[in-house]
Amino acid sequence: MSRFTAIDTYDVRFPTSRELDGSDAMNPDPDYSAAYLILRTDDPDGLAGHGLVFTIGRGNDVQTAAISALSHLVLGRDVDAVLDDLGAFARSLTDDSQLRWLGPEKGVMHMAIGGVINAAWDMAARRAGKPLWRFIADMTPEQLVRTIDFRYLSDALTPEQALELLRAAEPGKAQRVAALLQEGYPAYTTSPGWLGYSDEKLTRLAREAVAEGFRTIKLKVGLSVEDDIRRCGLAREAIGPDVAMAVDANQRWDVGPAIAWMKQLAQFDIAWIEEPTSPDDVLGHAAIRRGIAPVPVSTGEHTQNRVVFKQLLQAQAVDLIQIDAARVGGVNENLAILLLAAKFGVRVFPHAGGVGLCELVQHLAMADFVAISGSKEDRAIEFVDHLHEHFVDPVRIRHGRYLAPEQPGFSAEMHVDSVRQHLYPAGPVWSGEVPAVASDGLSAQAAG
Ligand SMILES: [Mg+2]
Repeated sequence: MSRFTAIDTYDVRFPTSRELDGSDAMNPDPDYSAAYLILRTDDPDGLAGHGLVFTIGRGNDVQTAAISALSHLVLGRDVDAVLDDLGAFARSLTDDSQLRWLGPEKGVMHMAIGGVINAAWDMAARRAGKPLWRFIADMTPEQLVRTIDFRYLSDALTPEQALELLRAAEPGKAQRVAALLQEGYPAYTTSPGWLGYSDEKLTRLAREAVAEGFRTIKLKVGLSVEDDIRRCGLAREAIGPDVAMAVDANQRWDVGPAIAWMKQLAQFDIAWIEEPTSPDDVLGHAAIRRGIAPVPVSTGEHTQNRVVFKQLLQAQAVDLIQIDAARVGGVNENLAILLLAAKFGVRVFPHAGGVGLCELVQHLAMADFVAISGSKEDRAIEFVDHLHEHFVDPVRIRHGRYLAPEQPGFSAEMHVDSVRQHLYPAGPVWSGEVPAVASDGLSAQAAG
């Protein structure tokens, strides 16, 4: 019998602000970062689980400290018992009576819980020798439903209704697995559209995206309406009429300005406006949606939990949603959100980019295609082409599509040397010092 022995945390930061990669209307100079964790066990074969929470720099130390604060709920527990009942494991983390005060189920603490839960799923998939998408897809509807916490959802989705949805998706699973392995899953790219890029760079990257096979691109908007009209016009000209173009305001506007601004951009045939306003403002999204119809409205990368997603869907506030692998309470809660979306017939365009978000969320989208919604050609996973080289099992993009991961696990594991180089503040990238000679593996940071 093996037990959990440690949650090692690492404050890993990449100096992306030096190139303005990732710049948008609310985040002008992000340093893409990961509060990275490794769940250790005393398993004789060295079984471990990897997870991360994405942040954009300052506060990454707060996030790693929050992960460490969960240690008492994990250390010493029997590994097989945890991995055989990941629903109970997730609830044991969200139900800690004292830590709940820091949420409940929202913010830094909830993201920490999501990171640990995701690491446990990574470990379970490794133990089964399967990539996570396949591990989920191979679960029975009953097993999958048992992983989900239906608290606060039953007025919109009951366990019985979830079972019905999953059973309805059972026929054709094998064909969908085969199709996924052969065709991959559609991707869309945000690489051309960062606000800090020049017109020339935007136009060049938009053309390149189409040449590489992407059928949807996304532009950041929201700082200046004149600039946005010019940039959307340039991008539309570069990609032609048949490629979809979404825009993303990253929560920039109040309801009125969102409607006024988007009426000026609607001429460019906008596929969706993402995060027009506060991620907590369900009724605001509904008002914007009514105000700019038929331009589709979306949100989700900052939606803090399944309850807010439920309300967005109940209020008909969105036409589509983003899920984020590292925002909510891990795989379990994202499965709940995917089931809600399927119930309400809303398409999912998973949020990615950042550090490792592409690596993680591809598994959830692919599991959704095989086992939940059964659909992929009317949706796409976000793709941004940077920082993948730091991952042991990086995403593979061919002709604008994500290829299905083949290695066991959740693709969250980072290269030891990447972690060591980018540790904040002592790693060589930040301290300017010569890298230390590699020892055998990583030692956890004393202060997380
Ligand atoms: Mg976004």
